[in-house]
Amino acid sequence: MRYSRQREMILNALKNNPVHPTADYLYGLLRPKMPALSLGTVYRNLNMLAESGAIKRLRGAGGKDRFDHNNFDHCHVICKNCGRVRDIMLPPALARGLAKFKADAPVSAQECEILLHGICRDCKKKIKETKK
Ligand code: ZN
Ligand code: MN
Repeated sequence: MRYSRQREMILNALKNNPVHPTADYLYGLLRPKMPALSLGTVYRNLNMLAESGAIKRLRGAGGKDRFDHNNFDHCHVICKNCGRVRDIMLPPALARGLAKFKADAPVSAQECEILLHGICRDCKKKIKETKK
């Protein structure tokens, strides 16, 4: 991949904001520092990084693509209430099972996404408190 200062800034912003940001979020964050930046450039660079395997794309989590600088095997939970996406690790037994599942699949599987949808602990607590 060709070196680009913009790409480096985008990748660093992703690494420093482990919230699984959308392209819009990163654009808002970088714009004050990089006045020449466009949303299209952010999208293009994130797509390139995802295609090269440097970062992960979470397709449509919460309606929009999000990006993740952690490209090791892990899963995500998304909260239906606050929309936050967090990492959860695969238990080792499940990771082994999943590796076999991928190897035996009728396509050469490159990605496997596991996303649990629900209400996060923080939101559960808040909902409880407002009901009191
Ligand atoms: Zn929540
Ligand atoms: Mn993640």
